Amino acid sequence: MRVLIAGGGIGGPATALSLHAAGVETAVVESAREVRPLGVGINLLPHAVRELIELGLGDELAAIGVATAENVYCDRFGTRLFTEPRGLAQGYRWPQYSVHRGELQRLLLAAVRERLGADAVRTGARVVGFDDSGQRDSVRVRVLDRATGTVGETAARALIGADGLHSAVRAALHPRDGTLLWSGIRMWRGTTRAEPFLTGRSMVIVRDGDAELVAYPIGGGRVNWVCQVRMSEPGPLTGEAVWNRAGRLADVLPYFEDWRLGWLDVPGLLTGCDEILEYPMVDREPLPWWGSGRVTLLGDAAHPMYPVGANGASQAVVDARVLAREFARADDVPTALSRYETERRAATAAVVRANRAMNRAGARTPEELARVTDTYRDTTGGDVRNVNARPSLSCR
Ligand SMILES: Cc1cc2nc3c(=O)[nH]c(=O)nc-3n(C[C@H](O)[C@H](O)[C@H](O)COP(=O)(O)OP(=O)(O)OC[C@H]3O[C@@H](n4cnc5c(N)ncnc54)[C@H](O)[C@@H]3O)c2cc1C
Repeated sequence: MRVLIAGGGIGGPATALSLHAAGVETAVVESAREVRPLGVGINLLPHAVRELIELGLGDELAAIGVATAENVYCDRFGTRLFTEPRGLAQGYRWPQYSVHRGELQRLLLAAVRERLGADAVRTGARVVGFDDSGQRDSVRVRVLDRATGTVGETAARALIGADGLHSAVRAALHPRDGTLLWSGIRMWRGTTRAEPFLTGRSMVIVRDGDAELVAYPIGGGRVNWVCQVRMSEPGPLTGEAVWNRAGRLADVLPYFEDWRLGWLDVPGLLTGCDEILEYPMVDREPLPWWGSGRVTLLGDAAHPMYPVGANGASQAVVDARVLAREFARADDVPTALSRYETERRAATAAVVRANRAMNRAGARTPEELARVTDTYRDTTGGDVRNVNARPSLSCR
């Protein structure tokens, strides 16, 4: 009997690869009928890159990622306020990579198919429920086949809900979970063919009043950008949060059209983009518990967070590695999942809160920016000394 992973995004395949390395039979069910390279750029921080390298994916990752060298904070005239070295330049033993999310997902899923077999990933299959009450050694999982509309039942050693922001597994475990919480910020995102700027491996963060731009290269002559505008105070989300909802140039351009950085054409980035996406910056209140028995949560399903710390995908990868390590160590599945939750729940709740704090801080001066970025690393366990000294999460 295999461990069943709901979700073939980032955390799901990382979990499958990690469990496989621990000698645990695993399968992934992914709701999308076809995995297309969806999304735009994301970042993998050194603590997650280390784990992917230990999974043997270092060369593939280096081929699709840009090893970020610095974060440059400046005003809308391009005046540099603060520069923070990143990745190897900051003293980490592993790089930080900026990658296209869809390319990272493809890389991970290809590795799962190659190592676990072609049938280890089933697409067009959505987990719609489970029953963990009756059997001693399995959980019964209900899976909808989207092509036929039929629901089948399968027995699994464990069910890992890596099914993202609108997780069905989370909804079943926590039926009274609150709504998504909106930061009050609208985000427009896209990738545009553009010349590299500054070092060619720089991420730039530009603030002016309630508007902010984050831009960085993701390889292939593309610059990824996110425009954020604060619209209101934080509160419950009333609309929808859909990753691939189309955004309109006319809604975002007015906030940025007179920005002149000199070395990066901001209005040109926006007007030159083929497909703009719009998404509200949301998270959820950290849960008091994640799972029970043979069922647990992982990645965004467990701890959706603001993207301000660039930590969402990285935390999902670390979840995957800890989960597999506990599987390898424990005598039974419920113990493994409970130890995994104990290690990861508080740690990821701290990241959710640190992202909120950094978002609220509104730092402007070099001193404030240095303090806020240092505090973020300290409170999330991501500072150089911690990451470099941490024992490997590898289960071998
Ligand atoms: C289409 C898409 C585009 C994204 N684009 C960006 C982006 O541009 N920038 C960014 O910062 N983050 C983006 N994200 C989110 C980002 O990938 C996550 O924050 C982070 O990587 C954690 O990954 P995850 O595996 O936990 O969740 P996700 O990457 O969201 O993966 C969850 C997966 O589960 C699948 N799924 C959902 N419900 C079920 C179900 N019931 N049964 C089976 N499968 C299910 C989804 O189709 C998805 O593939 C995107 C997510 C998605 C799904």
